[in-house]
Amino acid sequence: MGCWAIAVHGGAGVDPNLPVERQEDAKQLLTRCLDRGISALRSSLPAIDVVELVVRELESDPLFNSGRGSALTEKGTVEMEASIMDGCGRRCGAVSGITTVKNPISLARLVMEKSPHSYLAFSGAEEFAKQQGVEMVDDNDYFITEDNVGTLKLAKEASKILFEYRIPTVGLDSCTSEAETPPLTMNGLPISVYAPETVGCVVVDTQGRCAAATSTGGLMNKMAGRIGDSPIIGAGTYACDVCGVSCTGEGEAIIRGTLAREVAALMEYKGLNLQDAVDYVITNRLDHGKAGLIAVSSNGEVACGFNTVGMFRGFATENGFMEVGIWE
Ligand code: ASP
Repeated sequence: MGCWAIAVHGGAGVDPNLPVERQEDAKQLLTRCLDRGISALRSSLPAIDVVELVVRELESDPLFNSGRGSALTEKGTVEMEASIMDGCGRRCGAVSGITTVKNPISLARLVMEKSPHSYLAFSGAEEFAKQQGVEMVDDNDYFITEDNVGTLKLAKEASKILFEYRIPTVGLDSCTSEAETPPLTMNGLPISVYAPETVGCVVVDTQGRCAAATSTGGLMNKMAGRIGDSPIIGAGTYACDVCGVSCTGEGEAIIRGTLAREVAALMEYKGLNLQDAVDYVITNRLDHGKAGLIAVSSNGEVACGFNTVGMFRGFATENGFMEVGIWE
């Protein structure tokens, strides 16, 4: 029997001026999710069940960017996406363009277990959700929060797809130094404070089975129909017999770098340990992209890496280590 380990994240795009109350809210939510995961692991639930239940908890809370509280498209609608992977047998499921399913991560799991496919999107995915009898809402409005409506308005005024870790500035092109310009604000706070963050969870259970799950509304002010890294197996999510990985950050850069799979490949083919593999991909696979990831290995290690100013994250291992943090 090995040792279990769990890691959760709530996104890598953190504003350095994030108000203390917001930091505390985020830490409390991450701690609650870790506690739920820990008790599930102590009750011998398999890794795949634990990642699903933790991500469901995050999706149900409007604080981060998944389920309720998801980032909005340029049309002001929510199009959610999620993926899940069981390293045991390398089974996976993913969904995109979800508009009425309360917990997209559970739909992704159903795609894995109850469909002949790995990835369903838009109307086909919604149809499948109905057939499977998952909890759905009548209206997309359920997912939309007041904060996100305000953030979208400001992002549109600045004609920016909101990368929360790059505070947009009004009426200036991207070559202009941010230091010289005031950030866009809402209620006196920089809009990055309101910009929501993707969530993820990775787990290794006592049988050494790794699993990973990621869920998101994508980027604020994204084009309708845009698909990021989070539902893409090998980019935003990956699990196999050596590790489980969940990413966050600029989806287009994560897709180009096949970030999650790359961590596993470095361990499998080059024999790197978990933290060295994570450090390598963050340093060498992102080009100019900004991102972060959490990972566990089948022998019970946890690791994270990011090239943003911070990442909402939490870890716990069977030998009593537990940590929740935001900054480096
Ligand atoms: N990676 C997500 C996306 O590009 C965004 C995030 O992690 O916050 O859709």
